[in-house]
Amino acid sequence: MKATLLFPDKDIVERFYVPLIYTACRTCYSELEPDEIFRRAVAGEVDGAKQQKLIQGVIESGHGSTIEHIVFTFGISGVSRTLSHQLVRHRAGVAFDQQSQRYVKYKGASTMLPATLEDADPELRRRYEEQIEGSLDLYGDLLGAGIPGEDARFVFPNATRTNLVMTTNLRALIHMSGLRLCTMAQWEIRRLFQLIRHEIFNVSPFLGSFLAPKCVPLGYCDEMNNRDGHCPIRPHKDVVLAAWAEKAKTARAAGRELPVT
Ligand SMILES: Cc1cc2nc3c(=O)[nH]c(=O)nc-3n(C[C@H](O)[C@H](O)[C@H](O)COP(=O)(O)OP(=O)(O)OC[C@H]3O[C@@H](n4cnc5c(N)ncnc54)[C@H](O)[C@@H]3O)c2cc1C
Repeated sequence: MKATLLFPDKDIVERFYVPLIYTACRTCYSELEPDEIFRRAVAGEVDGAKQQKLIQGVIESGHGSTIEHIVFTFGISGVSRTLSHQLVRHRAGVAFDQQSQRYVKYKGASTMLPATLEDADPELRRRYEEQIEGSLDLYGDLLGAGIPGEDARFVFPNATRTNLVMTTNLRALIHMSGLRLCTMAQWEIRRLFQLIRHEIFNVSPFLGSFLAPKCVPLGYCDEMNNRDGHCPIRPHKDVVLAAWAEKAKTARAAGRELPVT
C-alpha cells in the first residue's frame, strides 16, 4: 500500500497554507481586506507562532470553514476494493478518481492478502488462495471468450487491488482521520490514514498534528464497541458521564447544584 502526497509540495505548504488559513480566520475580525492580511502573513510581517495560535484556537472551537480553503491531493495505490469502498463513503469536501475495472485489463495477480489469512491454518490459506486465483483465472477466460471487461469483473473478489487519487480539504481530512485512525476502524483503512498522516507531517508537523483519532480532540471515546474500555486512548463517554454524575451527587450533598447530566 502506498499513499503519496502529490500536491502541494513542502515549499508551497510552508509558504502559503498557514497564511491562507490565517487570512480566512483574520478576515472575520479585521478591518483589513483579505489580500492585505494574506500579503502580511506571507511576508512574515505576522509572527508565524501567532498565526498558528489563532488557527489552533479556531480549529479547536470547531469553526471548520476556515480550514476548507486548503486542499491536499494524494495518490493511493495497492489498496483493496474493500478499503476503497469504505473510503469513497466520505462525501463532504473530498473528491475521488479510481482505476476503472471496465477499461483496465487486469493481467497479473493483483490482490491483497490480510495478515490473519497469511498466518492462518495452511489448509485455510491454501483454500483462500485457490479461490482468489480461481476468480482471476475465470476473469481471464471470460475476457478471452469475448465477455466485456465490465461484465467479466463481476467475478473479482473484494481483495482486488485498486488505485485512486483523492483530493480533500483540511476539514474533511481531519474528520476522516478522526474516524479512520480510531482503533475501531478496519486495519487496512487505518493503515492508509497512518500513511496519510505521515505524508502531512512531512510537509507540516503543525497541520499534521490535527490528524488524530476523534477521541483525542473530543477528550472521550464515543464508540459503542469500546464500552468495555479495551481501547485506552481516552476514557469512554459512559465513564466520563458516570464520573460527572458522581461529582454532581457529592456537590448536591454539600448543598451546591451542578448542571444535570
Ligand atoms: C468504524 C466504522 C464502521 C463503519 N461501519 C459501517 C457499516 O457497518 N455500514 C455502513 O454502511 N457504513 C459503515 N461505516 C461508514 C459510516 O457510516 C459513514 O458512511 C462513513 O464513515 C462516512 O462518514 P460521514 O458520514 O461522516 O461522511 P462524510 O462525507 O465524511 O461527511 C462529513 C460530515 O459532513 C456532514 N454531512 C455529510 N453529508 C451530509 C448530508 N447528506 N446531510 C447532512 N450532513 C452531512 C456530516 O456531519 C458528516 O459527518 C463505518 C465507518 C466507520 C468509521
